[in-house]
Amino acid sequence: MATIAFIGLGNMGGPMAANLVKAGHKVVAFDLVEASRAQAKADGAGIADSAAGAVKGADVVVTMLPAGKHVLGVWNEVVPAMTKGALIIDSSTIDVESARQAHALAAKSGVLSVDAPVSGGTGGAKGATLTFMCGGEEGAFAAAKPVLEKMGKKIVHCGGAGAGQAAKICNNMILGISMIAVSEAFALGEKLGLSHQALFDVASTSSGQCWSLTTYCPVPGPVPTSPANNDYKPGFASALMVKDLTLAQDAAKAAGAATPLGKHAQEIYQSFDAAGQGGVDFSGIIKHVRSLAGK
Ligand code: NAD
Repeated sequence: MATIAFIGLGNMGGPMAANLVKAGHKVVAFDLVEASRAQAKADGAGIADSAAGAVKGADVVVTMLPAGKHVLGVWNEVVPAMTKGALIIDSSTIDVESARQAHALAAKSGVLSVDAPVSGGTGGAKGATLTFMCGGEEGAFAAAKPVLEKMGKKIVHCGGAGAGQAAKICNNMILGISMIAVSEAFALGEKLGLSHQALFDVASTSSGQCWSLTTYCPVPGPVPTSPANNDYKPGFASALMVKDLTLAQDAAKAAGAATPLGKHAQEIYQSFDAAGQGGVDFSGIIKHVRSLAGK
């Protein structure tokens, strides 16, 4: 079994590190927050007193941090302290440019690297059912796969450096747009006197079918497990949707791609967030859509 350093033990990283311990790996963990370190210790990980301390002698290093600047900060600190030929994986959701810079840092030190952002949320992190979207060289991906399989159930190699992040933001742009589309359809249906169930029964088996409707329906009733049935508790918070839609817009600008609906979706989620709803599940956007009626 490998020795794995895990840095960033928040809502996602904490349970992911715990799953690596459960799989029999020796895990050495670090986070800036004492409570997260204490939880990791209770889960069976060893605790280091710094990020650089955690990676000494590790075969694999995993980072799960808020944004690109944190990842570059930590990678600048830990990559030079890693054994040559070891592997570093970043599973945070960050901008493609920072991900590519991180890969370049690793290459300079003779360390294998993979960007491997996830979908599946905190439930997936706890249940080890995450999807990992990976970018990096074939050899690095082959080394990462058995480790990622202990934390997820679907591991996809999307291409070279940064391709995992590219896939993640493209997917979440579809998600942000489609949730607004489904919400608009329910809001219009309500005004037309159509019951939620009737619209669901038709659209879920017709051309309007999509994940935002059939798995994560934004009105209570048709899909009992969706956050709409639990007062829109996240799930996936609207503030994180703003983050991902903003990453998509930054990437679209940098790459010269036209994404008019992605831009509009970003603006709609930003105003929901600005109204103090950032902690509400992103499917709660239906409340915002309804509030726009007549404006
Ligand atoms: P979080 O804020 O709960 O955790 C981030 C952790 O990183 C915190 O515990 C923080 O103390 C730690 N940290 C920050 N800087 C550090 C440093 N320099 N050294 C050590 N630790 C440091 O965030 P999260 O919800 O766990 O999300 C992590 C990443 O996963 C983000 O990029 C997020 O966008 C992405 N993501 C989150 C979800 C979700 O549902 N929460 C889903 C998919 C992807």
